[in-house]
Amino acid sequence: QALNNILDIKGSIRVFCRIRPYLCSSRRIIHKPISVESNKIVIRSGGSKKEFEFDKVFTQEESQENIFLEVEPILRSALDGRNVCILAYGQTGTGKTFTMDGANESPGIVPRALKMLFQKASLDSTSTVVFSISMLEVYLGSVRDLLAPKPTRATSISRCNLNIQTDIKGSVEIEGLTEVQISDFAKAVWWYTKGKRVRSTSWTNVNEASSRSHCLTRITIYRHSDESGGKPEISKLWMVDLGGSERLLKTGATGQTLDEGRAINLSLSALGDVIAALRRKRGHIPYRNSKLTQILKDSLGDGSKVLMLVHASPCEEDVMETICSLTFSKRAR
Ligand code: ADP
Ligand code: MG
Repeated sequence: QALNNILDIKGSIRVFCRIRPYLCSSRRIIHKPISVESNKIVIRSGGSKKEFEFDKVFTQEESQENIFLEVEPILRSALDGRNVCILAYGQTGTGKTFTMDGANESPGIVPRALKMLFQKASLDSTSTVVFSISMLEVYLGSVRDLLAPKPTRATSISRCNLNIQTDIKGSVEIEGLTEVQISDFAKAVWWYTKGKRVRSTSWTNVNEASSRSHCLTRITIYRHSDESGGKPEISKLWMVDLGGSERLLKTGATGQTLDEGRAINLSLSALGDVIAALRRKRGHIPYRNSKLTQILKDSLGDGSKVLMLVHASPCEEDVMETICSLTFSKRAR
């Protein structure tokens, strides 16, 4: 098992890129800086040409359904006992939330994954599978439980700054994080919707939340089978809508906003460092540098499956940010 895990690390990190459609069709688009050549993105801007290669590139026309079909095999390995981590990365407004959560008529990866998990579990005749859901937000280096019961004065502080521990087996434990057992798809969606609502109410709007904090949804899978004896086999599936990757200069941020931006930038670069170290199979993996990487520690390396979904804007005015995002993802490949 251990040898398998080591051999598998390189093969277990995938990087896909999704390009958002042009949102405003009435605006005349004079120059399209981005073109796609199979798994490569080519950016032509200011006389220079840059190329970025991915495991897969989704063009603007790609449907939510097709994207899910490509992601599904990775999600399915969570049912085989692997820890799985799906991360949406990119500048604010490039479609991270659209990909993970989706819109009314076109659900994204999270709701589709929930449906798939219950379907597959019901077909499994050799074991009993139980799912639970947890949701949390990482904001300015603190971890907030999104599914906690209504806060009382005593609990309101503790649920906003949860501690992260690693047990002797290397399994990450977030102290006091609410974990709700979900018996069917409808209940799962109910809790997921509740978590999203709790998140958005503490911000002026959803976009603000999503540019300044990371939103993490965790499905824990308990598999009881004859072989497992009394103890279930446990695996985790993380689906993460990361905070916006935009650099701070452009937004002209000051004060609190600047701190928020710095916190996001720091945790994203810590994530990049961890993934790059895993790819290089370096001995030391710098998990400790951010809350985000501490939380995801047991689901990023060592036999787990990681999918980074990098999001990019098709627009000329975003070219610099796009190059930054694609350069970031280069470290992961
Ligand atoms: P982010 O979460 O990265 O800030 P959003 O997911 O909120 O970005 O997307 C910004 C806007 O673009 C939203 O109105 C969203 O519905 C729309 N959008 C993003 N990607 C797509 C897509 N592939 N197809 C249609 N609309 C999209
Ligand atoms: Mg968002």
